[in-house]
Amino acid sequence: MEIKPVHKASCHCGAVVLELTMPNGLEDPRRCTCSMCRKRGAIAASVLLENLRIVQGEENLTLYQFNTMTAKHYFCKTCGIYTHHQRRSNPHQFAINVACLEGVNPYELEPVKIVDGIAHPSDK
Ligand SMILES: [Zn+2]
Repeated sequence: MEIKPVHKASCHCGAVVLELTMPNGLEDPRRCTCSMCRKRGAIAASVLLENLRIVQGEENLTLYQFNTMTAKHYFCKTCGIYTHHQRRSNPHQFAINVACLEGVNPYELEPVKIVDGIAHPSDK
């Protein structure tokens, strides 16, 4: 599994295509226990906001927000695949769905670190 310095990612139907600048490879891949992540089931890695470019299908992305309405969760409105979200824990970062990365097999990353998102620092 090779992560290119600029790596492509896409949803399942191919409507949404992202370009991610990942000079350090896959950064901090993790699962999280928050109400959203536990249902979504995706492994997320981190990229800085300026390192994510939507090259195709921006109009095909739907935004989902809940609770404090801080995090911005994006998914493809055609195939329903979660591509990325702007984090609440660090608004300068996007979390990206590693399963959307070209040539990446998420099962090879297991076991993945699990973050205690249900006890979010912003909720205390
Ligand atoms: Zn799609």
